[in-house]
Amino acid sequence: MTADFSLDGQIALVTGASSGLGRSFAGFLAKAGASVVLASRHIDQCAKAADQISGTTLPISIDVTDPTSIDDAMRTIEQNFGTVTILINNAGMVTNNLLVETPTEDWRQVINTNLTGSFLMTQAISRSLIASETTGRIVNISSMLGVVASGQVHAYAASKAGINQLTRTSALELARHGISVNAIAPGYIETNLNRDFLNGPAGSKIVQRIAQRRFGQPADLEGILLLLTAPAGTYMTGEIITVDGGLSLSGM
Ligand code: NAD
Repeated sequence: MTADFSLDGQIALVTGASSGLGRSFAGFLAKAGASVVLASRHIDQCAKAADQISGTTLPISIDVTDPTSIDDAMRTIEQNFGTVTILINNAGMVTNNLLVETPTEDWRQVINTNLTGSFLMTQAISRSLIASETTGRIVNISSMLGVVASGQVHAYAASKAGINQLTRTSALELARHGISVNAIAPGYIETNLNRDFLNGPAGSKIVQRIAQRRFGQPADLEGILLLLTAPAGTYMTGEIITVDGGLSLSGM
């Protein structure tokens, strides 16, 4: 095999790494050879997650909505690890409300965390890569809901649609600096956040609409994550890759 799937020598930063998909991505990237920075607002939880990973890790506190917190973290990372070459914009949140009952604060918080947070992190990492003339890879975690309409997730769906366009516009501009930007749009992936919901009555209806008749597991995203971060996939940029077991294939 000539394709290079090793992440040896890479420095990866995963936002929202204290739980769920972020924690799983961090463990996988470390296994693939990268040194991994686990970032979220709660450094103690990141430290706990980092302890369970064999490899070089650095837990750090970042609130992706706060430029000062990002700048402080970037300084610490550069002093301890060097330039981050892989960014996984994974931090996210969701609220569920009818449109007419959605509090403005909920809307702002979701857009701020999911969309503005991804923008601020992309900006910080790109500035650092450009200044050090280093090539890099950015992977945004979007969602099938960035394309498909569903009830009571207005801010979340709008934020993920925004992430899809941020992926394309930043890919276009950053290509000249050797930075690729792609997105993964997962369907339903079982994490602590949604396990009870997916295993309840609503979940049994949803699973019938998935062509493969099962919810995804975090490990189902590892193949695409590796392609989008390893040298073998460098020529891909601006793509949004759906990984949903065929959910988006279901028609009427
Ligand atoms: P999760 O709640 O376990 O993970 C979200 C993480 O983001 C947490 O670690 C949380 O602390 C962190 N976070 C939230 N706000 C933050 C902030 N301001 N600054 C830094 N970190 C912050 O949920 P998850 O299911 O693991 O979701 C991870 C990502 O995957 C999200 O972007 C989500 O939208 C996306 N996604 C998940 C699914 C799924 O089925 N689980 C499907 C599609 C997309």
